[in-house]
Amino acid sequence: MARTPFELKGKSVYVAGHRGMVGAALLRRLAMEDVELLTVKRSELDLRDQAAVFGWFAKMRPQVVFMAAAKVGGIAANNALRAEFIYDNVIIAANAIHAAHTNGTEKLMFLGSSCIYPKLAPQPLRENSMLTGPLEPTNEPYAIAKIAGIKMVEAYRTQYGSDFINVMPTNLYGPGDNYHPEHSHVVAALIRRFHEAKLAGISNVVVWGTGTPRREFLYVDDMADACIHLMKTYSSDELINIGTGEDITIAEFAGVVAAAVGYTGEISFDPSRPDGTPRKLLDVSRLAALGWRARTSLEDGIRLAYRAYLSESKQAAE
Ligand code: GDP
Repeated sequence: MARTPFELKGKSVYVAGHRGMVGAALLRRLAMEDVELLTVKRSELDLRDQAAVFGWFAKMRPQVVFMAAAKVGGIAANNALRAEFIYDNVIIAANAIHAAHTNGTEKLMFLGSSCIYPKLAPQPLRENSMLTGPLEPTNEPYAIAKIAGIKMVEAYRTQYGSDFINVMPTNLYGPGDNYHPEHSHVVAALIRRFHEAKLAGISNVVVWGTGTPRREFLYVDDMADACIHLMKTYSSDELINIGTGEDITIAEFAGVVAAAVGYTGEISFDPSRPDGTPRKLLDVSRLAALGWRARTSLEDGIRLAYRAYLSESKQAAE
C-alpha cells in the first residue's frame, strides 16, 4: 500500500472540484506535470448523486484522484447552513472514495481542514490531536463531515490496502475565492470590504468579532504545490498538515489587507459576530521533514489575491 515515490507521469488524474479555488490551483500546478487531466462540470456530474458518481468512475477509471470538491464557506455560512454542510460533504466524500476504490484508482488524496481539530487542542495543532476533544461549534457539521471522509480513507487503507491519503490544509486564500459578503472566508471578505470602502470613500470598515483570534493563511498555489509533492512522496494512514507554520491575529491581518488594497481609513470590530476558534495554527513539522515549505509570504500572497479579485470582479461585470 505504501508505494513512494509515486509516479504521476502518464497517469489519468481526476481533480474533483476543479472550479473551486483549490481545484483550480491544482489544475494550474498539474499543467506542469506530464499527466492526462480529467475534469467534469457540476452540471454534468453532481458528486452527491451516488449512481452518477459510480457511473462516471466506471467509465473514466481515473488512476489518480484529488478530492478537492466540497461545500465550503466562512464562519457565518458554516453556522447558518449546518444541514447542507454536513449532508453535502459526507455524501461527496463517501461517493467519491468508494467509487475510487471500486474502480481501481491507484492513489487518492482527500483534502480535510484544520477545523477537524478540537477547539482547544494544544497549539500548534499536531496531526494526532484529531478526536481528542470537542470541536468548535460554528463549524462542527463541516468538521464532522471531513472527519468522516478522513476515517473512510483510513478504513479503506486498512481493509483494502488502498493507497489513499489525508491532507489537512490551514485557511487558504487566493485566485478563485468566493467573495460573497456574508458567506466568504475572512480573506476574501476583507479584500472586498476594504476595496469597496476605498472606492466609495468610506472612512470606517467593520471587521467581525474581537480581532483577537489568530489564524494561519496559506496561498492556494502553495497548497497545490504541497499536494503534488505529497501525492508523489507520501503514503501513510497518518494525516498530514499543510500550512505555513505562522499565524497572525485577525486585527493584524486586517491591517495587512488594508495596506495591500490601499485603504487608509479606520478599522473597527463588531464583537456581536462570532470569533470562532481562538487559534488554529498547524504544526507543519511532518511536512517540513518531507522536504516542503510554503514560499509565498502573506504580504505577497494578499497582493496577488487582491490582483486576482480585481480581475475576477472585472470579468464578472463584463
Ligand atoms: P474560520 O477560520 O473557520 O473561523 O473561518 P473565517 O475565515 O470565516 O473566519 C476567520 C476569522 O476571521 C474569525 O475569527 C472571524 O470572526 C474573523 N472575521 C473578521 N471579519 C470577517 C468577515 O468579514 N468574514 C469572515 N468570514 N470572517 C471574518
